[in-house]
Amino acid sequence: MLETLRSIIQEVNEAKDLTASLEIIVRRVQKTMEVKVCSVYLLDHNLGRYVLMATKGLDPQSVGKASLAPEEGLVGLVAQRAEPVNLEHASSHPRYFYIPETREEEFESFLGVPVIHHREVLGVLVVQQSEVRAFDAEEEAFLITLSAQLAGIIANEEARGAITGFSPTGIKTTDAVFEGVPGAPGVVIAEAVTVFPPADLGVIPSRKVDDIQKEIDFFNECLNQVRIDISELKMKIKGQLRPEERELFDAYLHMLSDNALGAEVIAYIREGNWAQGALARVARDHVRNLEAMDDDYLRERATDIKDLCSRVLFYLQDKEQDNRKYPERCVLVSEELSAAMLAEVPKENLAGIVSAKGSGHSHVAILSRAMGIPAAMGIQDLPFSELDGKEIIVDGYNGRVYSNPSDELRDRFMEIVREEEQLSEGLESIKDLPCETLDGHRVELWVNTGLMTDVLRSRERGAEGIGLFRTEVPFLLRDRFPTEREQTEIYRQQLEAFYPKMVTMRTLDIGGDKPLPYFPIKEENPFLGWRGIRVSMDHPEIFIAQVRAMMKASSGLDNLQILLPMISNMNEVDYSLKLIKRAHQELLEEGLNIQLPKVGVMIEIPALMYQIKSLASRIQFISVGTNDLSQYLLAIDRNNPRVSGIYSTLHPSVLRALKKLADDIHAENLRVSVCGEMAGNPGAAVLLMAMGYDVLSMNATSLLKVKSVVRNVTYQQARDLLEKVLTEEDTEAVKALVDIELYNAGVDRLLRTSRNS
Ligand code: PEP
Ligand code: MG
Repeated sequence: MLETLRSIIQEVNEAKDLTASLEIIVRRVQKTMEVKVCSVYLLDHNLGRYVLMATKGLDPQSVGKASLAPEEGLVGLVAQRAEPVNLEHASSHPRYFYIPETREEEFESFLGVPVIHHREVLGVLVVQQSEVRAFDAEEEAFLITLSAQLAGIIANEEARGAITGFSPTGIKTTDAVFEGVPGAPGVVIAEAVTVFPPADLGVIPSRKVDDIQKEIDFFNECLNQVRIDISELKMKIKGQLRPEERELFDAYLHMLSDNALGAEVIAYIREGNWAQGALARVARDHVRNLEAMDDDYLRERATDIKDLCSRVLFYLQDKEQDNRKYPERCVLVSEELSAAMLAEVPKENLAGIVSAKGSGHSHVAILSRAMGIPAAMGIQDLPFSELDGKEIIVDGYNGRVYSNPSDELRDRFMEIVREEEQLSEGLESIKDLPCETLDGHRVELWVNTGLMTDVLRSRERGAEGIGLFRTEVPFLLRDRFPTEREQTEIYRQQLEAFYPKMVTMRTLDIGGDKPLPYFPIKEENPFLGWRGIRVSMDHPEIFIAQVRAMMKASSGLDNLQILLPMISNMNEVDYSLKLIKRAHQELLEEGLNIQLPKVGVMIEIPALMYQIKSLASRIQFISVGTNDLSQYLLAIDRNNPRVSGIYSTLHPSVLRALKKLADDIHAENLRVSVCGEMAGNPGAAVLLMAMGYDVLSMNATSLLKVKSVVRNVTYQQARDLLEKVLTEEDTEAVKALVDIELYNAGVDRLLRTSRNS
């Protein structure tokens, strides 16, 4: 059974579109189960009915025409119950419904199973038999397993259809919506540009070219480059292989010859496709055919094709990169956006961000908030390569992406864009005013940075210091570790730009969701593994170079403080302090006159909440990293879109933990700040202020929003709200209470909690 299932799925995976996929399913199931009829019905949202989309056994003329409402017939019953229906005497069931155009009267036994994807019934898979008999448990299990595997494929195909503007039954559709999670607030309507990791043949989108001859010449140039590489490889390896093994290289060269792969690619380019798309298509076709073969030798050849085509793709992309043009305003779309991909788009062209993977807490989302660019993350089933070149709407507040927008929808979003413009004009007027409540309570607003852009934007918005400089960001954007001298320059820029205000530099926080491309860390459980200070402690040479660079950069300014990430025990604090002092001593010996900076610790690991006294005897300040602290308190991966709905820094237990931390840290006479994303959520910021946090450090975009909300409430109001909130049992109730308070305080709807958390 497993073998049959595997082969059906494989065949379906190779189908060119939804219709072909469904035809394969009904044909193969009818044959395998030896039944008279196998049919697939799919829900057409536009009609609100289950439409017969493919059949083997019923009248083929009825495909696309026969349909049932959810309350009609046995098919409707399967869909309504979202569970299998297995009947010996279908015709005597009260829900039996005869559709004349299918001519199904001679069939008696019926087995229907729902096709479910993300809790939604997409359709129903049915088998029927003329004689009276119940399908046995094995047959039922087979159909259920098949339908579970098909659900993802069907959802994917449907989504592709929606992008091009058609429902499963071919009705023209608009406003196809793809649901994800909020990444950065804001709304944008602009052209999508799909980007992909280098040399990945599986994700290259189709794109039109105008100058076909130029594209062919470009392709030939790259192909030739690979031929040269392979010939050189062959020479290099000559002595190490037997002649018959060397033949493999000749076979490679043959595949690359003008009348083999190359010719096929050129034929596709002549149809108007760009070289990368044409190459990817040829590679996919060959690989699919070879992988479906029973012969081991031929299946192996699929690997050769992939390897060869990836080599050609490498050159195509390498050269393309230099002269890539982006639309004036574009939404960057990818399966998984990286910081490096963001950095490649000129800032003035980047209007929005969409990533099929990742969540509101992943680093690309944090960067997009810092840059003030609306972002939607974790959009499952997004056919991202199909979006390239299309106008889309990104709703960063709700984490949604719309394609094929109707005029009404576009107008609605244009209205929000206008509202946002008015709001930011209004916020401009408070940039030089203090962040204090109506009754004069002051809270300091600092900024989180990673790029120089953040620094400049946040200075304009009246930030009072840098509460978190994520030093890993410049590390992530390079292809090797920056040297001590390079680091010194980067750090100096930040320190100078904020002088005389304080700049808190966090030592390298890699691992977890932040792997450096040139320092791969492969672990089963990266968030519980080798990350943050743990990496630095095992590589003191990296740590020392970094803190030396920080201290050198602060020479003559002395506005630096150092922050240690992911601390889980006192040994890490002691060892870090020892290395910092050693580096400081070295610099003094080298003739530099630098003060030893204050050192602080991030509380991101719950265990540390119970060692505040021990910390206080060692360090000078504490910053609470609510992103990770909540992740570890709730045991919810902050980047997993499947569970992002239950990750919230407004969970009552997280709030109670934060209140306890503020009290315990103040009892030791230390200053305490919050530098997680929570501080930039205006409603949450009011709660943190009421808890007594001295500094709120956030992304540059949130600075004026938070200030505007703080300036609209009294400290007493905030404390009363906190008291009420701390008695609540669930997150939604907390959000509702905060929103009501903000509403009563006359806060703009775009600033309320439900829109920003
Ligand atoms: C945090 O965990 O709250 C934090 C600020 O660190 P990062 O988001 O960089 O992990
Ligand atoms: Mg963290």
